[in-house]
Amino acid sequence: MTESPYRLPRVVLPHRYTLALEPDLANATFVGHVVIDATVGARVERIVLNAIELGVHSVRVDGESANFSLDETTERLIIEQGATEGPLAIEISFSGTLNDKLRGWYRSTFTDVDGNEQVIATSQMQATDCRRAFPCFDEPDFKAVFDITLIVETHHFAVSNGPEVERTEHAVEGRTDPKVAVRFAPTMPMSTYLVAVVVGPLEATEPVMVPRMEGGDPIALRIVHLPGKGHLTDFGLDVGAFALAWYQEYYGLPYPTEKCDMIALPDFAAGAMENLGCITYRENLLLADPASATQQELQTLADVVTHELAHMWFGDLVTMKWWNGIWLNEAFATFMEIACCDAYRPDWKRWTTFSLERSVAFEVDSLASTRSIEFPVEAPADCDGMFDVLTYQKGGSLLRMLEQYLGEDEFRRGVSHYLSSHEYANTETSDLWDAIEETNPSTPARQLMDSWIWQSGYPLVSARLDGATLVLTQQRFAYGDTDDATVFVVPVHLNIDGVENKVLLDGPELRVTLPSADSSVVVNAGGHGFMRVAYDNALRSRLEGRLTDLTIIDRYNLVDDAWNEVVAGRLAAAEFLTFVESFTADRDLAVWQAITIGLRGVGRLVQGDALTAFQGRVAALVAPALADLGWEPAADDDDLRAKLRGLLVGTLAVVGNDTEAQTRCRAIMAQAEADPELVAAATNAVAAVGTDADYDHYLANFHTSATPQEQLRFLYALAEFPEEAQIRRTIDLAFSGNVKTQNAPFLLNRCIANRWHGETAWSSVRLNWQLANDRFPNNTIVRMIDPVKLLTRPEAVADVQSFFAEHPIPQAAKTLDQILERQRVNAALQAREADRLPSALA
Ligand SMILES: [Zn+2]
Repeated sequence: MTESPYRLPRVVLPHRYTLALEPDLANATFVGHVVIDATVGARVERIVLNAIELGVHSVRVDGESANFSLDETTERLIIEQGATEGPLAIEISFSGTLNDKLRGWYRSTFTDVDGNEQVIATSQMQATDCRRAFPCFDEPDFKAVFDITLIVETHHFAVSNGPEVERTEHAVEGRTDPKVAVRFAPTMPMSTYLVAVVVGPLEATEPVMVPRMEGGDPIALRIVHLPGKGHLTDFGLDVGAFALAWYQEYYGLPYPTEKCDMIALPDFAAGAMENLGCITYRENLLLADPASATQQELQTLADVVTHELAHMWFGDLVTMKWWNGIWLNEAFATFMEIACCDAYRPDWKRWTTFSLERSVAFEVDSLASTRSIEFPVEAPADCDGMFDVLTYQKGGSLLRMLEQYLGEDEFRRGVSHYLSSHEYANTETSDLWDAIEETNPSTPARQLMDSWIWQSGYPLVSARLDGATLVLTQQRFAYGDTDDATVFVVPVHLNIDGVENKVLLDGPELRVTLPSADSSVVVNAGGHGFMRVAYDNALRSRLEGRLTDLTIIDRYNLVDDAWNEVVAGRLAAAEFLTFVESFTADRDLAVWQAITIGLRGVGRLVQGDALTAFQGRVAALVAPALADLGWEPAADDDDLRAKLRGLLVGTLAVVGNDTEAQTRCRAIMAQAEADPELVAAATNAVAAVGTDADYDHYLANFHTSATPQEQLRFLYALAEFPEEAQIRRTIDLAFSGNVKTQNAPFLLNRCIANRWHGETAWSSVRLNWQLANDRFPNNTIVRMIDPVKLLTRPEAVADVQSFFAEHPIPQAAKTLDQILERQRVNAALQAREADRLPSALA
């Protein structure tokens, strides 16, 4: 067997790190000292662990000074010292830089109330950046105890995975004022990627004490935040406390560690990170004022908090052996986030609106350049491409499909069995299916899931009548023709004349006997299956005759399937428009979300007179629904009704270009206190027709907003303005350094998505490609350019495709392929509709 350049030998096994880190925030540097207690399994000639971008000053092995070298290409520290079977202590002194790339131990900054720049040292270790903070065995199955001490200025706040247990004065040479050494309780055995160390001028809320299952000390839950933001923590704490209680019940296991700190940071590359007991977040995903936030903003916050807390068990207590398993880690947390959020706020109907996430996964998974969910990962960098919609949204959808096929309680028992059998250990994906089969012996969980995880794509299930027999067949869904013979093991929920039925379509065809030749059938009833459905004419007309009997998801799926038939070239855009006009009486948010997505897509296909005619059709479709809801919030509105009002206002004003609606939006913006849903919709609607004075006003609001949500609303609305000069200002702003590097790529994303000036924005990004890559976090580059798929002019298509042939994005090669293919799909759609849609609208 040859040695892998990416995997450390399994001979020296670490079991405890005693780590001291001392940051110098003003100079953005740190020094550190670590003792790693390990066990040697068999005699070795040298000891190998991971380190990069660190200065290593000395290494001692069992007290003896040892020679060492650093190999920057393999990111390894090689200690030239043999060892024999038995215990071993490795002691290393080192130093490093707090970098600005938002990885490893890095620097985050903010301006305080006096206008001074303040620095925070914070960490992001996943996937393989713990080795940038201290030398370690940086692979997920080298679980160990971390006994961490942070040596900090006395006025600074320090937080890590364990609760603080000791504070001692720490004299500093050449200084009269001492520092303080803050020691944290040793962790449970965990992976290096979950270590967290945060130091700076921060504050914490009072802890909320959440009861611990099976007795024991309650769980102290706090939010750590910038000074002066304590009033924005109540909602996050409420979600967190609910989730901690709910997960203990669901998993049947107590919270696995002592305390739970959630930290809101001004600079963060991802959304949040599930460090054990010390979870880090972007500010807008943890801090909010419920009085001024929209339902979407609060739901996103709740989703992220419940997602991260789900990981405390699934991911942190039980961890994947290697990075190929990251998809299950993330898919599962996505599934749990929805389940927990649905329990937290049943009125938000989270499993219904999850349809939107499923559609996002369908969009990518319909392409020839999609990938299978699981794939072999050799280099850790290979897993960078796993953090995408196929992992989160498709993976989460597949688990929902499995859960609905098994039954919610049966699924939960399997999960609980899996966690309790593997606690503190590492697993392969198949261990979960095996645990589910052990608790549900009659279900072929592994066979079923393997067909979805190792094959790319998803099926179009066709339903037709053969007398009183329902015939189901499957064919992989594609934009365009395909003879792909992939067969999935598809659990299909049928609703036959109102009666629920589950069948397994595990071959090309399945025949089901119906009560009569006149039976009415919903295929994929409830909408939880990861499939699209095509009915024959008889079945379809029976369904269209009873639209109001269908569930919200069934109606959502009818609209979403129809729009995708347009993209695939099997339905004309004009026919889609006529079809959705039959939903004008619908009052459900999810259905209107699907309609709006399709309308925005159709709107991009037309210009001039045809666009004006299209806008008239949109206004005629939306206005009656909005009039019925009323422009003014009603006392008995629930959150989703208020959100639907916001959606309809935005659609009427922007997609329908309705001047009266635009005027009313201006009036809403001028009100001191207005409903957040109306304010958010009006913010975008006014921007879309905004003047230079509006632009200045928005820019000022971006700098002075009271909450992270309002700040982002104003920032991102700067990409919606109608004039080219305005969009150029926004692009300059994104590159100016006055927008956080965590947000600038997403601002540019919105500029490229601008209906009128997307090409201008793309040209600027293209011109500043090197600067963007140097400055923005690695994982945001591909997201920044995602909307190039909307640029469909033949010259723009050629330009984009040739640029990326020369400028690959190695950390997201697959995602880039998918964006480029989708651009070609959209260009073909544009070409098909170029003449026929305008003439249908005339
Ligand atoms: Zn996650």
